[in-house]
Amino acid sequence: METTTHEFQAETKKLLNIVINSLYTERDIFVRELISNAADALEKFRHESITKTDVFDGHVPLEITIDVDEKKQTLTITDTGIGMTRDELEHNLGTIAHSGSNTFLSELVEAARKDISLIGQFGVGFYSAFMAGKEVRVQSRSWDGSEGHEWVSDGSGSFTITEMKGLHRGTKIIIALKDDAKEYAQKWKIESIIKQYSAFVSFPIKLEGEVV
Ligand code: ADP
Ligand code: MG
Repeated sequence: METTTHEFQAETKKLLNIVINSLYTERDIFVRELISNAADALEKFRHESITKTDVFDGHVPLEITIDVDEKKQTLTITDTGIGMTRDELEHNLGTIAHSGSNTFLSELVEAARKDISLIGQFGVGFYSAFMAGKEVRVQSRSWDGSEGHEWVSDGSGSFTITEMKGLHRGTKIIIALKDDAKEYAQKWKIESIIKQYSAFVSFPIKLEGEVV
């Protein structure tokens, strides 16, 4: 299967640099960010499925599933939301989609310099996965039913995209944890973050098979 390699946009590299090097005291927020993206994707799918009949995997329940593996040191967050096509993976996870200007970034830099604890107020977004992850894999298949793809990066400058067969609708994010972030492969740790930050998510969150 053909693999393509892409450079992160310059702004994205700057953001990644901040996220990876200066935010380690605020690490827990990456779980909140990924759950919030999962909930957004589910909400988008729910919205589309009201008006459209031709949706891929229409029978799959709308939920967020989180699994930890202490042996492999991975954390996996799966949603059955709207998913991403190949182009969406390339664009949405390669640029800073939610910020046309550099304002967001400069505010972030400023906050990071002054008081690192302020950073949690900003929607750091998907790239926060690299606070805890040495490698992040995103497997996604769009609700339009086109073939699924896997996006992989170590956050250092580029990412790859490869076609992947047999995926269900939605997005699975597999985080290979850094050696000093092993705690995120422990169920109690993730459970406490969900209770602290993601208590009001309007879709079920299943942690290791149990609804949190
Ligand atoms: P924001 O959520 O503020 O738009 P993020 O950095 O968190 O910014 O995410 C960037 C974009 O990547 C989202 O707008 C969305 O298009 C896409 N995305 C991220 N996670 C998912 C997901 N689980 N399912 C579908 N799309 C996603
Ligand atoms: Mg987000």
